[in-house]
Amino acid sequence: MSLSHEIPSYLTSQGIGPWGVYLEQIDRVTPHLGSLARWVETLKRPKRILIVDVPIERDDGTIAHYEGYRIQHNTSRGPGKGGVRFHQDVTLSEVMALSAWMTVKNAAINVPYGGAKGGIRVDPRTLSMGELQRMTRRYTSEINIIIGPTKDIPAPDVNTNEQIMAWMMDTYSMNQGSTSSGVVTGKPISLGGSLGRREATGRGVFVVGCEAADKLGMDLKGVRIAVQGFGNVGGIAARLFAEAGARIVAVQDHQTTVINENGLNVPELQEHVAKYGSVAGFAEAQELTDRTQFWGLDCDILIPAALEQQITGKNAHEIRARIILEGANGPTTPAADDILHDKGVLVVPDVIANAGGVTVSYFEWVQDFSSFFWTEDEINLRLTRIMREAFAAVWQLAEDKKVSLRTAAFIVGCTRVLQAREMRGLYP
Ligand code: GLU
Repeated sequence: MSLSHEIPSYLTSQGIGPWGVYLEQIDRVTPHLGSLARWVETLKRPKRILIVDVPIERDDGTIAHYEGYRIQHNTSRGPGKGGVRFHQDVTLSEVMALSAWMTVKNAAINVPYGGAKGGIRVDPRTLSMGELQRMTRRYTSEINIIIGPTKDIPAPDVNTNEQIMAWMMDTYSMNQGSTSSGVVTGKPISLGGSLGRREATGRGVFVVGCEAADKLGMDLKGVRIAVQGFGNVGGIAARLFAEAGARIVAVQDHQTTVINENGLNVPELQEHVAKYGSVAGFAEAQELTDRTQFWGLDCDILIPAALEQQITGKNAHEIRARIILEGANGPTTPAADDILHDKGVLVVPDVIANAGGVTVSYFEWVQDFSSFFWTEDEINLRLTRIMREAFAAVWQLAEDKKVSLRTAAFIVGCTRVLQAREMRGLYP
C-alpha cells in the first residue's frame, strides 16, 4: 500500500549526491525555524521538474541526444532564478540541489526571486560552435513553456557564457514573436546585459573575503590564497585579491595544479588559460603531480570555485587555511563542515559568498524592465553594499545563535522563503 505522504524515490537523498547534501543542510537548520518548521517539507520538494530530450544534428550528419533539465525549486518569493550548466556530470540530483541552493541564496541576499536551475549533461568541449548553438536553441525551445521574464530567468553557470545567453534570449524571443531581453541575465552588453555582471560573482567572493579576513584580524597584504577553479569565479576573485596585495600561491583547474610560493602572476595566468584552455604548462610555476595534495597546501584562504562536494570527510582534516570562501555551489559536505568547525576554520558559505552573480543579475533584470542602464561604478557600489550587509547580518546571527555561518545563512534564507509561503497560503 502506498501512503499519501510517502516520499518519491527521486526526492530521497539519492546516496551522498548533492541533493543528499542539501537535505542534510535543511535538517540542520530546521530546529532554528520556530513555528515555520511546519512548512519545511516545502523546501524538500522542488515545485516543478522538467526533464527534456535535446536532439541535434551533429556536423557529421549523425543525430545526438542530450539530457536537459530545468527545475523550479521554489517560487514563493518571486520568479524562478538561476543558471544553466553544461557539463558531462550533470544529473537530476545535482540540478535539484543547485536549484534549491538558489532558493536559499536569493532569499539570504534578499533579491525578489525564487530558486531555479538548469543543465545539460554534455561536455561542451566536444561540440563545434554550430553544434553548441543548435543544442542551446533546442534546449531553450524545450523549456520555453516554463521560462519567461516574470516566470523563470536563466543565467550563466559552469561552461555557459554571454554567447549562450544571447542564443537563449533570441530563441525565446523568436518563439514569442517579440524581443524579450529580460528572459535571461548575463547577456552581452549590446543585448541589454549589465556592466559588471561578468565579474560580479568573483567580485562578491572578494568583498565577503575582505569582511571575513577583517573579522579574524587578517591583513590582506601578503595573505596566501589557493584557488580551485580558474573560470569566471575563481579567476576574477584571484585577480581582485592579488590587486589587493594577496599572494595567489596555488591554482587548480580540471587538468592540473600550479603553485608558486611567491605568488602567481594572475593576469599572465589568465592570458595563458585564454590561449591554452588550462593552467597546465604555465612557465612561472611548478605543477603538483598528485592533485589531491592541493587540499593540504599551506595557505591562509582557500577558495573552492569549481564543482560540488570537493571538500569532504576524507580531505577536510588536511586543510590548513583559516578561511574558506565558497565560490562554487555546494563544495563542502556536511561531514566536512563538522571537521572544519572543530578545527576552527571559518567557512563563508556559498549562499552568501557567491551571491554576487545573482545580485547583479537582478540589477540587469531591473535595468531591462526600465530600459535605463546604470554605470559600472553604480553597480559595483550597490553590489558591495549588499554583500557587506548580508555578511554582517549572517555574522551577527551566527554569533547570537552560536551556529556556523552556513546555518545562519540558511536561517535567514529559509525563514524568508517560509514566511512568504505561510503568508501566501495554499491554493487551490
Ligand atoms: N549561476 C550563478 C549562481 O549559481 C548565477 C545565477 C543567476 O545569476 O541567476 O549563483
